[in-house]
Amino acid sequence: MATKKKAAQPAAKKTAPKAAKSAVKKSAVKKTASSKKVKYVYTWGAGKADGNGGMKALLGGKGANLAEMTRIGLPVPPGFTISTEVCTYFYDNSRTYPVSLQAEMEAGVKNMEKIMGAKFGDAKGMPLLVAVRSGARDSMPGMMDTILNLGLNDETVLSLAAATKNERFAWDCYRRFIQMYGDVVLGVQKAEGEDHEPFEVVIETFKHETYHKDIIDSDLTADDQKELVKRFKALVKERTGKGFPTNPWDQLRGAAGAVFGSWMNDRAIVYRRKYNIPAAWGTAVNVQAMVYGNTGETSGSGVAFTRDPANGKNEFWGEYLINAQGEDVVAGVRTPENVSTLKAALPKPYAELMKVRTILEKHFTDVQDIEFTVQEGKLFMLQTRNGKRTAAASLKFSMDMVKEKLIDWETAILRNPAEQLEQLLAPIFDLADVAKAKTLATGLPAGPGAASGKIYLNAERAVLAEARGEKVLLVRTETSPEDLRGMIAAEGILTSKGGVSSHAALVARQMGKVCVCGAGGVEIDYDKKTVTAAGKVFKEGDFMSIDGTSGKVFGGELKTAPSEIISGIVSGDKAAMATEKFKGFQQLMKWCEQATRMSVRTNADTPEQTRIALAFGAKGIGLTRTEHMFFEGDRIDAMREMILATTLEARKAALSKLLPYQREDFTGIFTVLKGLPATIRLLDPPLHEFLPHSKEQQNDLAKKLGVKVETIIQRVSDLHEFNPMLGHRGCRLGIAYPEITEMQARAIFEAAADVAKKKIKVKPEVMIPLVGFKKEFDLQAEIVHRVAKEVMSEKKVKFEYQVGTMIEVPRGALTADQIAENAEFFSFGTNDLTQTALGISRDDMGAFLLPYVENDVFAKNPFATLDTTGVGQLIETAVAKGRQTRPDIKLGICGEHGGDPDSVVFCHNVGLAYVSCSPYRVPVARLAAAQAAILEKRAAAAAKKK
Ligand code: ADP
Ligand code: MG
Ligand code: MG
Repeated sequence: MATKKKAAQPAAKKTAPKAAKSAVKKSAVKKTASSKKVKYVYTWGAGKADGNGGMKALLGGKGANLAEMTRIGLPVPPGFTISTEVCTYFYDNSRTYPVSLQAEMEAGVKNMEKIMGAKFGDAKGMPLLVAVRSGARDSMPGMMDTILNLGLNDETVLSLAAATKNERFAWDCYRRFIQMYGDVVLGVQKAEGEDHEPFEVVIETFKHETYHKDIIDSDLTADDQKELVKRFKALVKERTGKGFPTNPWDQLRGAAGAVFGSWMNDRAIVYRRKYNIPAAWGTAVNVQAMVYGNTGETSGSGVAFTRDPANGKNEFWGEYLINAQGEDVVAGVRTPENVSTLKAALPKPYAELMKVRTILEKHFTDVQDIEFTVQEGKLFMLQTRNGKRTAAASLKFSMDMVKEKLIDWETAILRNPAEQLEQLLAPIFDLADVAKAKTLATGLPAGPGAASGKIYLNAERAVLAEARGEKVLLVRTETSPEDLRGMIAAEGILTSKGGVSSHAALVARQMGKVCVCGAGGVEIDYDKKTVTAAGKVFKEGDFMSIDGTSGKVFGGELKTAPSEIISGIVSGDKAAMATEKFKGFQQLMKWCEQATRMSVRTNADTPEQTRIALAFGAKGIGLTRTEHMFFEGDRIDAMREMILATTLEARKAALSKLLPYQREDFTGIFTVLKGLPATIRLLDPPLHEFLPHSKEQQNDLAKKLGVKVETIIQRVSDLHEFNPMLGHRGCRLGIAYPEITEMQARAIFEAAADVAKKKIKVKPEVMIPLVGFKKEFDLQAEIVHRVAKEVMSEKKVKFEYQVGTMIEVPRGALTADQIAENAEFFSFGTNDLTQTALGISRDDMGAFLLPYVENDVFAKNPFATLDTTGVGQLIETAVAKGRQTRPDIKLGICGEHGGDPDSVVFCHNVGLAYVSCSPYRVPVARLAAAQAAILEKRAAAAAKKK
């Protein structure tokens, strides 16, 4: 293959943007390219395999597991994998191949020929046909294209027909091959402005000319297929200007090149970006002997899950088609049968499949997503992988498998992806609303949850609508990879065709989207942009609702209700608490408690938020923002009075009005906490944020306070800052106006004293914000300590408290050893620490976020997921320096990152005592923290073994 020049085939359908290409360049393949004896091809067949299931990085997921299934004795057609290193080589060397590849491929083909008793390109005896299949490390649904029946031409089709004595079958294969190869490799595809795939148009036209109606493909006769082959070839010639390649080796090289080329097509790039898959991973190519599901009524193809991936039930689940090749099942050309009927249709292979199901689950100790073909009553396995699943299914699988002793409880924790957990907390439809609503249609429940939104019939308009802030429901007859962007933008997806393994269902499951598919009662008119169901017509932009748990479709917008978990935990609802979902969730959280080293606190400003977070298992408050308390009711007036005051006396007078409010808030919080710690941050935002900026509001305020409006305008203008993010805020306020700190400290400690007197334990932790200099901290801490002493003696009660700081500017992190001399704890304020370390304002980043993500400047949004390489270093430094001065210093994090699973893992690894996040993120953080602890333990055990 290396001897061929790069452009022997138009491999890639579309050229990739520069940025993505250069990402591949970065990879470390130079090493392999220069050393001579690299193995590029890994064969499997007849019980033996070069590779195994652990080699996904090199062989891709599909190839590694084909090797693994072969090793454990399952019936897998032989084949070979061209490794991902070839993909990297391909992009590093202007789309050419390593020199030794061709010989290795020839050896691989020989191996298949021997096992199958057929020859590649044989025009006399039974020809060997192959499938060329892509295989990235992780499956990327719809991104890569598979070509079946490769090796056919005008001669081998005759030898195939003769050898099998099945002419219809032989020509069906040939027709399919030209179609797939023409589409994927030669680029004969829907052009701008065309509504249908050109090959499909040819088929439809032929059917109508010949039969004057729609007939299914398997009813086409041998002669029909011959005619279609002729027309297909003509179409290829017309579109590409070239004849269809006849030499099987040319076909094989072309197909392999197309797979490598598709790694850089737009769809693949979009998908990788969404799931953070590095472009440098590359894809493998699998070449595998064909087995045939299209030989007649005792053959067929199917896809299945060993258990239900939508709700998690331990029931074999999937679909199949008799007399069809695998692509038909997912392509939605014919509506597949539910796999439960396979037992009656093909009892022997079904029984074998049931055995395979058990073997696979035992071997992989996880639910498998499988693809199979039955050829004349004999079962063949074509793929297995861990099945994608909804969060609800993850939970049920993991609970059941512990009971079945397939996995232990720690593995069960790892089986529930932390970033998916929120799905379980997502709302369901309000039962009363559903009872009143009329079900307009019912489809397959493919992605559980409730979604209401304005309907849009194509991806582009869905994306635009979402950008306008609308809630969107994407409605399509069926979806394809081109719809991916629209699916991402939508709350939910509704299709009128397609089964549980259709593209829509697959992607929805993976993204955790609500999805109802195959709702036959829904009629979609793309031209008129209308959806009709049960006689009701909906135009684009009208509301519809779908219930992905029951499969029901409703008109209008339905009310939603909290998930059973929320109802159970937050409201103590008995019925909710009796559900399996609730119990499973609680069990999971209990196990997390056992596994975790870090604890999880919450960011809460009110007793109610605190109560919810504690119910979710928070171990205290990591951040109370006192300024939020100033916006309620009349409080803002007193606050404004304070800001407008021109003398110390006037300021103190205004502050004394605020004091009782603050004290009351803290009393409430301490009472709920019952002795759990509460980190309370002193006033942080710049004062101008509290003043009114519109003329009207300024006039109102002037009247209320009895001052001249000019005074207010003047003060607003005095307080104006060119760069508020770096302005007069944080401890800088308390240093300029110590009386503010004094009032806040008093409010905190008086509340603490009152609650302590009621024999409820209190643990206030007063936090000084935005400290960059030790002196800043000391000035503020001195006031806090003094007030604490005063209050304790006035109220004649003792309680414990601490004074610490937020580390949120780089200087604070770098001089943490000095600050720790007097600071008893550090809490990393990673929102501001990220802003100040990156020199990027979070609120102004929108203007360039997209190009930054597209050009891979940011792997992820650094305000959502901690920038561990940059900001992480500041945290590590501060941790080390802080401990150097004060070995037992308490360390935590209170930025948004506290609820982000990846960031939580980082926090665990640097040894923080806790993370803090919003109440509803608490379970996510607990799960992530437990997983980090388990993974660390396992890594340590593995290292010890070595
Ligand atoms: P995808 O990654 O899109 O699932 P696959 O490579 O798994 O693509 O191929 C899709 C379908 O093609 C399979 O589900 C199977 O039905 C069919 N197929 C793949 N390889 C073979 C083969 N060797 N023989 C028969 N059918 C095959
Ligand atoms: Mg597959
Ligand atoms: Mg801050």
